[in-house]
Amino acid sequence: MSAAADAQAHRKQPGRHSSELLSPWLLSSKPQKLAELPETHQILRQTCRDFADRELIPIAGQLDQQHTYPGKQIQDLGAMGVMAMEVPEELGGAGMDYLAYSLAMEEISRGCASTGVVVSVNNSLYIGPVLKFGTEEQKKQWITPFTTGEKVGCFALSEPGNGSDAGAASTTARQEGDEWVLNGTKAWITNSWDASATVVFATTDKTLKHKGISAFLVPMPHPGLSLGKKEDKLGIRASSTANIILEDCRIPLGNMLGPRGAGFKIAMQTLDSGRIGIAAQALGIAQASLDCAADYAHKRTAFGAPIGKLQAIQFKLADMAVAVESARLLTWKAALLRDAKKPFTKEAAMAKLAASEAATYCSHQAIQVLGGMGYVSDMPAERHYRDARITEIYEGTSEIQRLVIAGQVLKEYQV
Ligand SMILES: Cc1cc2nc3c(=O)[nH]c(=O)nc-3n(C[C@H](O)[C@H](O)[C@H](O)COP(=O)(O)OP(=O)(O)OC[C@H]3O[C@@H](n4cnc5c(N)ncnc54)[C@H](O)[C@@H]3O)c2cc1C
Repeated sequence: MSAAADAQAHRKQPGRHSSELLSPWLLSSKPQKLAELPETHQILRQTCRDFADRELIPIAGQLDQQHTYPGKQIQDLGAMGVMAMEVPEELGGAGMDYLAYSLAMEEISRGCASTGVVVSVNNSLYIGPVLKFGTEEQKKQWITPFTTGEKVGCFALSEPGNGSDAGAASTTARQEGDEWVLNGTKAWITNSWDASATVVFATTDKTLKHKGISAFLVPMPHPGLSLGKKEDKLGIRASSTANIILEDCRIPLGNMLGPRGAGFKIAMQTLDSGRIGIAAQALGIAQASLDCAADYAHKRTAFGAPIGKLQAIQFKLADMAVAVESARLLTWKAALLRDAKKPFTKEAAMAKLAASEAATYCSHQAIQVLGGMGYVSDMPAERHYRDARITEIYEGTSEIQRLVIAGQVLKEYQV
């Protein structure tokens, strides 16, 4: 039985989603209950935690050093239901909710942040928009084969000339007979070297600016689509990142995802959800950093006692624990709002901002607690420090998250 199925079997009746199980505490302002998870989610969390301890932590350093795609681990996670958490069972997914997805993402990323991003991109950035905007036929064709971990997808929005300003897409799609012809370069595409399909954003009418952008489904490999060099990155080095180059890349008209001109909306809504996954990835890195620092504080002695007895070290551990727990509550809150079908744009941006800053802060402090041992690859602290940094950049930089949050706050206070 998969982890998700195991968790499903313990699900209380009649609640199918965490929002139904938990909505009383979410909606009745009883924040003390935020400390509890439904039994289904506790089981899933423990299963993913055990998997990370057993299958990811022992090899994460090697995957990072050798830039190796974790193919076997991704297939194992597929068998557990984790590669398609929100996809209904009839399409091959786990049929769970976003709270479950955030819990799985945190635990996997605690074990290996590179594996975490592969899981996140497949779930939120690739499958997510197809599930929300695809036709029934598209869902069968483009989702089901991507639920098992044998195939993964990617999401091609950024370009060499625009990242934060995603509405300025210069990749074009022109209609020729019964085909779309795509031309342009997509930059920084996670999973690109390992992917079997991608969602591509391209403009069908540049004069309409962001309203001229549409989304397309492109199989990989495919004539007219080639990959740039694998980027040599600071962190998440076991995941692949490269340009996707489109030169007269022809796809059937039926490969448009959603209505013509809806691409920018699809991309923004996809990123709203994706940010919850990245918040959970950052949370996993922050938690791994705290685990590593607290363990070392017990074991390392200086001046005749464990360094954990020193108040200077205790204060670091305390501040790290507060950052982790605050980010976790924000991440869960964003996931629960999404599961309850309530607006969550502001909370997802807050969760990503807080969790990515917690990851950077905690991994920085972990190196300090470990001293010289924090600086070498014999210990995981330096990898956490390198992995943390990307969470403040992709799926919207911290500056963009602040813009999103401020925009929502100002709207709330409008007179
Ligand atoms: C490892 C990696 C993986 C990635 N994976 C993907 C992927 O799978 N798919 C994909 O489409 N993209 C992906 N990206 C791209 C990523 O989303 C962008 O790098 C990111 O959105 C920032 O865009 P940029 O790099 O063009 O920076 P820019 O937009 O040029 O920003 C540069 C700086 O200016 C700031 N800035 C820009 N605009 C504003 C503003 N209005 N207000 C305040 N500050 C601003 C930014 O915050 C940043 O500090 C990935 C990037 C990396 C590094």
